[in-house]
Order: sequence, then C-alpha cells, then structure tokens
Amino acid sequence: MIVVKFGGSSLAGPERMLAAARIVARHSLTEPVICVVSAMAGVTDQLFAIARRAARGDSGWRGPYATLHAQHEEALASLADVREGVETDQLAPLWRMLESDTMALAAMPEGYEREEAIAVFSAWGEKLSVCLFAAALAHAGMEAAPFEDAPVIVEHDLRCASPRWTASVVATSLWLRDPITNLMRCGTTPVLPGYLALTQDGAYTTLGRNGSDHSAAIIGAALDAHAVYIYSDVAGIYEADPRIVPDARLLTSLTYDEAAAIATRGARVLHPATLPPLAQRGIPVHLRSVFDPEAPGTDIGVSCAPPPRMDTTPLMALLASRALAGAQRKVGRPDAF
Ligand code: ASP
Ligand code: MG
Repeated sequence: MIVVKFGGSSLAGPERMLAAARIVARHSLTEPVICVVSAMAGVTDQLFAIARRAARGDSGWRGPYATLHAQHEEALASLADVREGVETDQLAPLWRMLESDTMALAAMPEGYEREEAIAVFSAWGEKLSVCLFAAALAHAGMEAAPFEDAPVIVEHDLRCASPRWTASVVATSLWLRDPITNLMRCGTTPVLPGYLALTQDGAYTTLGRNGSDHSAAIIGAALDAHAVYIYSDVAGIYEADPRIVPDARLLTSLTYDEAAAIATRGARVLHPATLPPLAQRGIPVHLRSVFDPEAPGTDIGVSCAPPPRMDTTPLMALLASRALAGAQRKVGRPDAF
C-alpha cells in the first residue's frame, strides 16, 4: 500500500482533480492507494478571512462564503456523474455545519481559544476537498470513500512546558488501521484530509499551515505504507529555486538528511516535519509533478537501508487507546466508517 498526497494546486479545479484521480488510478493498478488531500488552492486563506470577519461580528463574511460555496458546488457538479454514483448534494451537511461554526465564532470572546477555533475552521477546506476528490475518483471509475472525519491524532508533547501538540504515529495507527484496511480489502480507495487533526480528547486541531505533507507522512508511517508520493506543481527539489534560476538542476535522489536539511531551510516543496517519521521507518518519499507524473522527480531515502523498526512502548499504546476512546465518541466511530 502507498500513500499519495495532493497539494492545493493539484486540486485547483475539477480538471486538475480529474488529472490527479487518473494518477491515483494508475498507481492503484500495481498497489492499493490511500489518498491524502489538501484544500483546493487558496481555500485555506479564504476560510481564515471568513473566520476572522465572523469572529469580529462583521456580517461581510457572507460574500466570501458565497464565493467559496459556489466554487466547491460548481466543481462537484462538473465531477458528478449519475452513472458513477456521485451524488450532487453530498456537501449539503458540510455547509450546514460550516455555517453554524461561523455563527459560533461570532459568539466567542477574543483570546487563544478563539484563535484555535479560527484555525480549526480553516480546515473545512480539507473536509470539502476530501468529498470532491472522492467524487473525482468515482468519476475516473474507481471505488472511493471520503473519510473527512478521519485525520491524524495528535498528543501533548510532554517534553514542552507550554501546551504543544505532536502528531502521533501510534495513536493514528490505532485509530485508522482497522477501518482503513478493512475498506481497502474490498478494493475501495480511502480519501483522508491533510492538515486537520484530532487531539487525544477528540477535539479538532490542525498541524499548522502547509501541514498536509506532515499528515501524509504520519498516515504512511501509521499504516506501514511502502512509500509516500507527494504530488505538487513542481517535480521535486532543485539545487536552486527554479523560479529564480530557470536552469537549476533537479535533485533526483536525496538521503533523508539531505532532504530534511533543504526542507528546514525553507524550501516550499516539503513541510519540514514530513521526513522524520518516514526516515525512522525507512519509508521512501517520492516527489512528483501532477503536470508530468511520469517524469523524474525527487526520490528521498530510496537507497538507504531501512533502519530497525521503532519500538512502541506498551505505555504509549495504552495512552493512545485511551485517547482514541474519546476521539471515537466525538466523531462517531465506528459507525462513521
Ligand atoms: N490547506 C492547508 C494550508 O493551506 C494545509 C496544506 O495545504 O498543506 O496551509
Ligand atoms: Mg504544500
């Protein structure tokens, strides 16, 4: 099984979504695929703007909200195909929840909790794109299931004095392994949201801006993927920024350390938290362009011998299962799957 992640620019409209769906269809000829998706390009920023206005009590949020609504509904309408079983009203419950979240923001006092609620609100973009991308896969002839409420699990990082969440491979594995593998056994391709996360108490949070790569890595590590593919609008990592140095050379093969050094220096192409969970398990990462998926990209960690598997202590597993009991209640597992 492999994880295939698409960024916002790969999902910027129905045509791009269909192109991405065809990439998944090609991969799934050889291996089952789990898809992880970002919000459509620009949508996270739009959601932040809507949330900030609503939180200020400014009813002007309705204009950008109507734009967002139309953009997603139009995309779904062009992906909908009755023969393929794509329903055209499947976003309706999401819009209702999203609108009531907007009202809730207006009632919240200023402060840390409101900032967190605004960030969580911004992750509606991923939930919407999970539904749209599952529709795109169905349109491309695949059996697909949207899992918009099945993000990665985060735990308190006990090494930090201030409250800080860290994505947990162990807790995410306990949470997702059974429902996802059961579904895949029937030949269905699951679509999961990037960026969004659930805390140990079952509350939503996020992995921070551009965090979907990190989500894909945690999901890949949690479910023992053979590889993680990250598709974006660039082929991979270049020796210099190709927008500034047009003939910059593509680096086709990097070790985890080399790629991590480039990612932490701020290269736009990969979130810096992506590599550690994969490097620990020797899971290779393949960066590819959605525009030319067959062309060479950057392969990370391919030639490295996989290090010994991580040992997960019984205590960690116990903590994770307690956390999940809460999370499952909140999001309605197992019936939701
Ligand atoms: N949609 C989120 C963002 O724009 C996460 C991501 O795209 O990786 O930051
Ligand atoms: Mg990105």
